[in-house]
Amino acid sequence: MKNIVLFGPPGAGKGTQSEKLIEKYKLIHISTGDILRAERAAGTVLGKKANEFIEKGELVPDEVVIGMVSNKIDENKNSSGFIFDGFPRTNAQAVALDKLLQKFSLSISKMIALEVDEDELTKRLLLRGKSSGRADDQSEETIRNRFRVYNNETFPLIDFYKKQGKYCGINGMYTIDEVFDDLCKIIEVIN
Ligand code: AMP
Repeated sequence: MKNIVLFGPPGAGKGTQSEKLIEKYKLIHISTGDILRAERAAGTVLGKKANEFIEKGELVPDEVVIGMVSNKIDENKNSSGFIFDGFPRTNAQAVALDKLLQKFSLSISKMIALEVDEDELTKRLLLRGKSSGRADDQSEETIRNRFRVYNNETFPLIDFYKKQGKYCGINGMYTIDEVFDDLCKIIEVIN
């Protein structure tokens, strides 16, 4: 089973690459950002609460996102694998993810980090903000805060996965197809 954490800062291309990967390898895409936006669109209590954090570029509390991921894994435990996109983002989430998978005798196969510099990320996010209408992609202040949160809370997870021998970094500055080819080379050799 291929269980992949697709890692990287906001705008690195995790969502775009996930879409291509789930099609090729028939994996289940678990994007906590997408789930939260769907909750918000549906006007649920969870969605409204989460929006207060999303608008500011802050992280939604761990227990909320861990609960969402737990449900998704439970519903799809017999699939051929998962792509985790935008999760885990904190140490507590990474520890919880290992435990959630262990319940089904599963584990993360690889954590693949897309590396892109901040100038390029800002350009991509502002462009996406124009086409998607995502408010958190339109404000430079929110974007800056998302980078700050990423650098402080999420980037250190590289060490978490390095210690498990699962970290792998690739250059995310190339074209979508070139990055996809590089990802496939890594994913092909996972059993
Ligand atoms: P994303 O679509 O992954 O860029 O996420 C958009 C926003 O949703 C983030 O800036 C956070 O406010 C929230 N969010 C998404 N995933 C998580 C997570 N794993 N932990 C906490 N907050 C999250």
